[in-house]
Amino acid sequence: MSTRLTAAIMVDSLEQGLADAARAAEFGADLVEFRIDRFTDSADAVAQLVQRSPLPCILTCRPTWEGGEYAGDDATRLAILEQVLTSAHPPTYIDVELLAWQKSAELRDRLQPLVQGDQAATGLILSSHDFERRPADLYKKIQAMADEPACRVIKVAWFARSLRDNLEAFEILASQYKPAIALCMGEFGLPSRVLAKKFNALLTFAAIDDTSGTAPGQPTLTEIKQLYRWDHLTPSTQVFGVIGFPVGHSLSPRLHNAGFDAINYDGVYLPMPIPPEYEHFKATVGTWLDFSPLHFRGASVTIPHKENLLRFVAESGGKIEQLSQTIGAANTLIRTGDGAADIEAINTDYAGALDAVCDGLGISREQLKGKRVAVIGAGGAARALVAGFAGYGSTVVIYNRTIERAQAIAQQFDGKVGKVVAAPLEKLADTCCEVFINCTPMGMHPKVNATPLPGDQPPACWGPGTVVFDTIYNPAQTKLLKLAKQAGCVTIAGKEMFIRQGAAQFERWTGQAAPRKAMAAAMVDG
Ligand code: NAP
Repeated sequence: MSTRLTAAIMVDSLEQGLADAARAAEFGADLVEFRIDRFTDSADAVAQLVQRSPLPCILTCRPTWEGGEYAGDDATRLAILEQVLTSAHPPTYIDVELLAWQKSAELRDRLQPLVQGDQAATGLILSSHDFERRPADLYKKIQAMADEPACRVIKVAWFARSLRDNLEAFEILASQYKPAIALCMGEFGLPSRVLAKKFNALLTFAAIDDTSGTAPGQPTLTEIKQLYRWDHLTPSTQVFGVIGFPVGHSLSPRLHNAGFDAINYDGVYLPMPIPPEYEHFKATVGTWLDFSPLHFRGASVTIPHKENLLRFVAESGGKIEQLSQTIGAANTLIRTGDGAADIEAINTDYAGALDAVCDGLGISREQLKGKRVAVIGAGGAARALVAGFAGYGSTVVIYNRTIERAQAIAQQFDGKVGKVVAAPLEKLADTCCEVFINCTPMGMHPKVNATPLPGDQPPACWGPGTVVFDTIYNPAQTKLLKLAKQAGCVTIAGKEMFIRQGAAQFERWTGQAAPRKAMAAAMVDG
């Protein structure tokens, strides 16, 4: 049976529980979990909830000692479960903690006859949760659940400390002889929740909306269905992602998943948070590539990992395109085969930015020759853009807070074709360039009131005929662009570059033309 999408519902009243279950059915859930931790005054009301639910349900009353909210006594909880299980409309599953099952002979004696055997109307989920870390005795717990004859489903959930935890969840799903649920909680655990279907879990949980989740890191039903392509996931789905830190704000999952949808490609694209240090990058990307059932085929790489990507690919014996080597940063990882060295790093920021400016001005790349371009910032994006504009003969001035970084880039690219010089950020006010490009994160969500301009003052030369391009795409209209518009400048939003650099990645990963219209529409919707 296909993995069931399960809406997790914390119940406070019969009406609210049923209303939420109806919404879950509307959103396309297959199952609901009624968490009755706070709804234990009347066993009759719980029985009603189960009976009138529009979807099959799991009934769970999670005690505080296992991370739930039920603080009552064991006898009350047991009496409720027993009454509902012996009613004319029992739930499809009940969830009981392994520890409770092991500790209480009374609980076992009274529930076992109601759940044991394939003919029982209700299946027993034995579960174990750790809200801090992967438990040291994880496999001992799984074995105990597997050995318990009354247990129909094994459930383990723990707080993930890194993306690598997800791989262990997938291994657990692959190796059990009973149906299983293996989930990682927290921001690193999203892959285990989305890819539960790829690895044939019994179910995954999702929240009805942003405020109603029952565990950290639960996506909403809409996210999992529409953004992460739930209905299309199969065991052979190819996995892609955006590697960064933080990465929750990234619009890349929307861009690429919309692209997969439009061409019916068996792929899914996930956020991949990896802490900044190279060792984290190397360990995570290395293990994800090694784990062949995952079919991890590529990634977009953003702040702060663009240099780490080059180092990783070089150390793995993979291929680095010449341009990325020159720029000193890459933004795309491509898997070209199954060997450890079958990986490639490329940079699509360069082409994305050049084309965004040229399309915005209605000119060809060749017509960039002689244009005076101010690049603000001297990080990975700036370096790519300087290489691009100087390569087409523009005169580039790099304005940066740390002048030494601007000088280093200027030294590298000056005279290759166009002229490149460095200047301190404060000098921006006096400049006379025709094109301005922000390559700093100043103004990016959530600091939307910031600009890279000293004192937030537009340069005196701004006016009609000046082009201001902000590489930031979230928000779509940054404060810098608003100021530029007020001054009469032509403005180009970061999403123009974003869509173009993403389309170039998409084409390398899939070998197919990127459905640019659908990808652009996915950006507009949000
Ligand atoms: P990066 O390597 O971290 O470089 C960031 C640059 O911003 C550095 O030069 C840094 O100056 C400067 N900076 C940071 N905070 C500053 C502050 N408070 N005041 C003044 N300067 C500051 O980042 P990156 O990879 O180049 O990316 C930069 C931006 O490009 C990001 O905002 C990203 O959204 C955008 N981007 C957009 C796209 C797209 O498709 N639209 C693609 C790639 C990047 P110091 O040298 O002094 O530290």
